[in-house]
Amino acid sequence: MDLWLKEGQIEDAVMTYKIKQTLITKKTEHQDLAIVDTYSFGKMLVLDGIVQTTIKDEYVYHEMITHIPLFTHPDPKRVLVVGGGDGGAVREILKHPTVKEVVLCEIDREVIDECKKYLPEISCALENPKCEIFIGDGIKYVHEHKNSFDVVIVDSTDPFGAAEGLFGGSFYKEIYECLTENGIFVAQTETPFYLPEVVRGVYRDAKSVFPVTKLFMAGIPTYPSGFWSFTLGSKKYDPQKVDLSSTVDINTKYYTKELHKACFVLPKFVEDLTK
Ligand code: SAM
Repeated sequence: MDLWLKEGQIEDAVMTYKIKQTLITKKTEHQDLAIVDTYSFGKMLVLDGIVQTTIKDEYVYHEMITHIPLFTHPDPKRVLVVGGGDGGAVREILKHPTVKEVVLCEIDREVIDECKKYLPEISCALENPKCEIFIGDGIKYVHEHKNSFDVVIVDSTDPFGAAEGLFGGSFYKEIYECLTENGIFVAQTETPFYLPEVVRGVYRDAKSVFPVTKLFMAGIPTYPSGFWSFTLGSKKYDPQKVDLSSTVDINTKYYTKELHKACFVLPKFVEDLTK
């Protein structure tokens, strides 16, 4: 019998994946969680019917959400990840030798536990002694930690449910306060094809808070449209002007120094969302 996963983020357009094996499905306190093995993208984490990460393309998202801010900041020591319970962002952050501590603030402990069990390729760094795991709401955590992190990464689910408050001006003000003097923030901010108003709103809200605000893009096949945006807010450093000639070499599959600059060059219809 053929079993198919129908990805459900966008109501009127779906991607489907033929399932090889269902590894786990459960209801957590916060969401429906599934980890399935698929023929086309390998194992994938699915929350409330929405694909979060897959073995085949996770590196694009995790490298871009981390290395862009971490190579823009000259000396990132303390990093906060809000969400990100699969551990992929933490794995990439810990490739940076300057980093002394990463705090992962994830609302759903079961995402972490199941990813440790079924997706060790992605979650492998969660046991690293430099990684501290805090189970709780990122909004509260950010509010309670002023002037504490050099980089804050919002690696969240889409803007509804528990993640709704992670998108918008009041949260970005809190992140500004949570960052140290020259800190940088990055968030995953959806697709300009299906959700242009989210992209526009996030950019506008971030720009009202951060002196340097930039949008960058990456190609992520399992996210709706495959064309994904990230928004960066910085107190001082401009990711397009940073000198990358003497940065350490780290092992990546998507990120390169050339792409660090090129990903900020936007197609016209996306650039228009930033005006
Ligand atoms: N790469 C993914 C994407 O864009 O589809 C995000 C992956 S990560 C698994 C997202 C995590 O954010 C989920 O595990 C979810 O539980 C967590 N999350 C959602 N709202 C949160 C909140 N308010 N505080 C902390 N974590 C939150």
